[in-house]
Amino acid sequence: MKDKIVVALGGNALGKSPLEQLELVKLTAKPIVDLIAEGHEVILAHGNGPQVGMINLAMSTSSNSDAGTPEMPFPECGAMSQGYIGYHLQNAIREELLDRDMHIPVATVITQVIVDKNDPAFQNPTKPIGAFYSKEESDELIRNKGFHMIEDSGRGYRRVVPSPIPMDVAEKETVMALIEKNHVVISVGGGGIPVIQEGNKLVGVPAVIDKDFASSKLAEIVDADYLIILTAVEQVAINFGKPNEKWLSELSIEDCHQYIGENHFAPGSMLPKVKAAMKFAQSKPGRRALITSLEKAADGIAGKTGTLIKM
Ligand code: ADP
Ligand code: MG
Repeated sequence: MKDKIVVALGGNALGKSPLEQLELVKLTAKPIVDLIAEGHEVILAHGNGPQVGMINLAMSTSSNSDAGTPEMPFPECGAMSQGYIGYHLQNAIREELLDRDMHIPVATVITQVIVDKNDPAFQNPTKPIGAFYSKEESDELIRNKGFHMIEDSGRGYRRVVPSPIPMDVAEKETVMALIEKNHVVISVGGGGIPVIQEGNKLVGVPAVIDKDFASSKLAEIVDADYLIILTAVEQVAINFGKPNEKWLSELSIEDCHQYIGENHFAPGSMLPKVKAAMKFAQSKPGRRALITSLEKAADGIAGKTGTLIKM
């Protein structure tokens, strides 16, 4: 059966530096093109944690130096990361397609994701970004720039930004028009550039939208059959990392609720994936989500591995 699939790529698909990423995306492209070769419609999303962190750090270091570049706001750093990650992905996927004699256009859509200005996350910033600072520097950033700063486990002070829930994708019509034309689209990179709506304006805000939640929202919007979250592990486990660890091939919504309640999934890594998968699987009958590794994507969709989340 041909499915419309939103594939969310994790950090392991992109690596830690631009040059490493340029090499890694060649490998990342293969399982993605395997899915396309099987006849599936594929829409790609990806994370940007290390990449936006690096851009933000470089920009703030440079703007604080004498030879400094201008200040680069955080939403702009996010847009930059979408741009260069999208460039690498579309470049590698295009080449992999052509090597298999498949003439399918690939493009990245710089994507704004609308968040609610009343989202409680704005009262409670939790996502650390950028450099570590001393207490004095931290106090100065609070005074001069209004940043929220936290002490990060004895390593120094760090800026934290909110992680609001994605409400809508501003460029959804464009993304859907490209899918209609059978183009491969890369969208909501890094969870999307967070924006709040003020009349006709979309105003970028310093925040980080979880890429797993943004991918789930995108999958709902484009009416996907499948959300596939590709990460570093082949399956979801309970008692993860413990002697009684158990890998799961299927999770019902009830199982998800129970295991979340029992704290089996680490916040910030597996928990958002399970929640994103649940949300998509519950959004309409027949929708399924799969969590598996990049390497096992094809086996996963063939039902041979991964963790399937369905109603
Ligand atoms: P990504 O970059 O793909 O979002 P993350 O590091 O955020 O990757 O999340 C995936 C990681 O979650 C896995 O590599 C694993 O170490 C960790 N993890 C935490 N809890 C679990 C669990 N219960 N089952 C499987 N993996 C888990
Ligand atoms: Mg993650």
